[in-house]
Amino acid sequence: MGNRLKKRSGILSKLFFLLLFSRTLFAWSDYDHQAMVAPALQQIVGKTGLGEPCAIQSLAPFLKKLTPFRPGISSPKGDSPAGFARFIDVNTKIPIGKLSTEESIGRSIKPIDILRLHAIDPDDGRDQRLRSHFYREQVWFGAGTGVSSQAFRHIEKPPFNPFRFDTTFGFPFWRLGQATDRVQLYFDLALLARSMGEEYWGWRFLAASFHYLQDLHQPFHATQISPEIASRGLRLYFQWGRAEHFSPIGTIAHLMSNLHHFFEEYVGELSRKGLFNEPLKGTDTDHFVTPFQYATVIRDRSNRLAAKTIHVTAALARPVLFTPYKFPEEHDEARNFLATDSVTFDKDREELMGIVRESFGNAGIAMRTLVFAYQREPKEQDSEKLLKRIERYR
Ligand SMILES: [Zn+2]
Repeated sequence: MGNRLKKRSGILSKLFFLLLFSRTLFAWSDYDHQAMVAPALQQIVGKTGLGEPCAIQSLAPFLKKLTPFRPGISSPKGDSPAGFARFIDVNTKIPIGKLSTEESIGRSIKPIDILRLHAIDPDDGRDQRLRSHFYREQVWFGAGTGVSSQAFRHIEKPPFNPFRFDTTFGFPFWRLGQATDRVQLYFDLALLARSMGEEYWGWRFLAASFHYLQDLHQPFHATQISPEIASRGLRLYFQWGRAEHFSPIGTIAHLMSNLHHFFEEYVGELSRKGLFNEPLKGTDTDHFVTPFQYATVIRDRSNRLAAKTIHVTAALARPVLFTPYKFPEEHDEARNFLATDSVTFDKDREELMGIVRESFGNAGIAMRTLVFAYQREPKEQDSEKLLKRIERYR
């Protein structure tokens, strides 16, 4: 890479996203990604075949069937998914064909359980350390290493819209992130696998498609920064940021990061108590055209909740989160950071619960919509056509 690019990345990485993702990046926690599935789908099991057992299969037979179409997919020994990982542009070192501890080859499993167990798969590191994206989208997310390097795949900011200044403001002005593309890519892989007789892998890829849709329901994952936080962060810069050797942008990003992680931790704790199971349930679905188009609708819907979400999260946060103190790396008790002594606490908490209930409700509808869309598609598909589309969205 040239010096010019390196310099550019140095400057860009000091932008808003520098510290936003310095902690974990799970959108909803790993528990939530899995726990959301069963309540959302339980009422449509009968209509969709989600309860009919399917034989657990390794990834190898599917890759063998793909190889005549794309010879690069096979490995010299025919036993490694690295060629396939390259084909879908994910980290080649991650064993993407891994089964969960509840599965073994030869046994069978219900599709609803495949979707539940594997909705967490895309957080397995496959989207991390992808150097080819470093100077493209990653740089706007502060690039990062480890978990934060997957931000560009699991978050998406809509293009700037002057009529929605509050939530679409940010850099660059255009769409930033690839979550919607991934929804489409894994949906197409699911169709391809099923069409080649690999029913288990059809559901596995659909589970991955679920993951990015679930991510897009987290309002913090459908925006970059709110003007309110930008101005508060700037004030904090003059209060302590300067003295602590933070840049103005660094102070804003630090504040945003603390609120983001506090929100996720708090919602994680509440959902582990089952508080959001009810809104997930139902039989209703959305209008659906294509996975990409649908994911974009989901993103924008979530984006509209972002400024309010950030505002109320800030109202619920203890003053310590507005200091140089960094929200703990490891899971921590969110209640230690709740401003329970605030006079508006009950009202703010209720508002936050309302937003999360709405997000979970929308996520439930989205998961059902995707399952019905998958079942509506013909079982037999034109493999070449699907492969070409996958190449376009990767
Ligand atoms: Zn994710």
